[in-house]
Amino acid sequence: MLTTRRVKISTFSLPYSLASCWVTMSKRVAIIGAGCSGLTAIKCCLEEGLEPTCFEQSDGIGGLWRFTETVEEDRASIYKSVFTNTSKEMMGYSDFPMPEDFPVFLHHSRILEYLHLYAEHFSLYKYITFQTKVCSVKQHPDFAKTGKWNIQIEHKGNRKMDIFDAVIVCNGHYNEPYLPSDCFAGLENFKGRHIHSRSYKTYEEYRGKTVVVVGTGNSAGDISVELSHIAKQVYLSTRHGSWVVSRISRGGFPIDMTVSRRYTMWIKNVLPRSLAAKISEKIMSSWFHHSNFGLEPKFRLKHPTVNDYLPSQILQGSIKVKPDIKSFSETSVIFEDGTVVDADEIIFATGYSLKYPFLDDDIIKLQNNDISLYKYVFPIYLEKPTLAFLGLVQPLGPIMPTAEIQARWATRVFNGAAELPSAKKMENYCMKGKDRKNKWFGTGRTQVLQTHYIDYISDISSEIGVHPNTIYLFFTDPRLAWHVFFGPCTPYQLRLKGPGKWSGARNAILTQWDRTIKPTRTRVLHEHPKSWLNIRRLLVIGSLFSAIWLTKASFNAEKSGFIEWITSWAS
Ligand code: NAP
Repeated sequence: MLTTRRVKISTFSLPYSLASCWVTMSKRVAIIGAGCSGLTAIKCCLEEGLEPTCFEQSDGIGGLWRFTETVEEDRASIYKSVFTNTSKEMMGYSDFPMPEDFPVFLHHSRILEYLHLYAEHFSLYKYITFQTKVCSVKQHPDFAKTGKWNIQIEHKGNRKMDIFDAVIVCNGHYNEPYLPSDCFAGLENFKGRHIHSRSYKTYEEYRGKTVVVVGTGNSAGDISVELSHIAKQVYLSTRHGSWVVSRISRGGFPIDMTVSRRYTMWIKNVLPRSLAAKISEKIMSSWFHHSNFGLEPKFRLKHPTVNDYLPSQILQGSIKVKPDIKSFSETSVIFEDGTVVDADEIIFATGYSLKYPFLDDDIIKLQNNDISLYKYVFPIYLEKPTLAFLGLVQPLGPIMPTAEIQARWATRVFNGAAELPSAKKMENYCMKGKDRKNKWFGTGRTQVLQTHYIDYISDISSEIGVHPNTIYLFFTDPRLAWHVFFGPCTPYQLRLKGPGKWSGARNAILTQWDRTIKPTRTRVLHEHPKSWLNIRRLLVIGSLFSAIWLTKASFNAEKSGFIEWITSWAS
């Protein structure tokens, strides 16, 4: 659909053929950042007949996936050894599967390669202005009527103002390290070196040292494991603990492809929350006894950390888990349990703060890293819905397809094909959502942006009519329906119908396991025949019917103590 507005062009500024005529112009959209969200935002703008201009402050695409040897100001920074913790079939864009020879979990250089392939394939480069920093985004004096924005940009020292019809913010949320001095009193006494994980690049300088890593997020897990091979000793300090899950599930399949399925989400949603929470906790803790490893989380459903080696490094004694830090002396760290450790280095893997220096406080209000956005995309109180944020959410799943579906929604709102409800309705929605979320994930700063992946993308895809109708599919294309409902919830499912439908989506779904298995089957002795009615499928059907039965039972059981009985049975 092409969104246009008719504009009268002045006769003085144009060649004769165009002078004094009515021409059609599409709405201009400014996109801030050319990382994985910005790239898909450009593509979605083009598909929706909008005119994108993407401002990227560095000289390349990729955002945080563009590794640099040194930390650059105002940019996310990753370490040399980062590998993804979501699998390639789950994390690619919905109409552009990753190459089949790519490994299942990818080094950051491969993600950057994929982003270049995407940008080339959809001819996105020409819409990006590199080395251009967005200094300010302010409402145009006519904002209430037009929703326009004044944007000031800086390119090689020159500042310029431009007007846009809409803005998409894609500058990421891992630029500003979080290291609260009030939580780490006495740090100034410590004479050893301390850094934030954002500054960590590689292990070499830690050889033979005693290192304390603070936090149990993915950065802390990766860094402590990497250092444990060469450091004298690594201590991992955690205040709340964390579930640790492996990338590899039963049978060697990627864990996200095994767990992230529509039927499991459906079961989660129909079961009473306490029971669903108990089952989720069981799944997350099934790999090892977290309490024996000092990792048991305080909140039942804490976002898991993905790490294949952490438990084994703890078993080998190269990593020792410690509680929260109480204070520091010149040479040591004193923990809450009173134990003291002499340390050479401290790495604070304590996460990030949101930062939008180019936006006025009255446009968005940041409180404890929370920014109240409708469905994590639209500010609630703007008179016109012409500002959207992408990727500002932490789903229990991949971020790239999440940002993509957000971009598809935002661009359809900009061109008028989709509408937002009233501010009051959006506010109620946010409050209810926050309440639900707090019950699941807890209320900490780290949990503010967390969501269930499938629930979230289903919600956004319903906004624009691209959510797959599995019941309809079971009647029209049962094979596909089976894969959609019982198989991994891969992004291609959001291209089966509606605006942006992709003719390759069905085939991409039916061949997703081939692309998953291909890079590891490098020595094939014999093919295993595929049996349709295998045990796993029977188990799936069995659990589905059990879920329905449990749901029905639970309705009648609140009074009879059934929930308590099944919960205690599950534990
Ligand atoms: P994060 O997920 O925000 O984790 C921060 C950690 O610091 C949490 O364990 C938190 O503890 C702890 N913390 C925060 N404030 C603290 C305080 N005052 N005292 C003690 N501990 C404190 O940050 P991250 O690990 O840097 O990860 C950032 C993002 O990058 C995440 O989305 C992550 O998944 C992603 N990432 C991915 C990979 C990968 O794909 N391989 C690698 C690294 C990072 P509590 O939980 O107790 O609050």
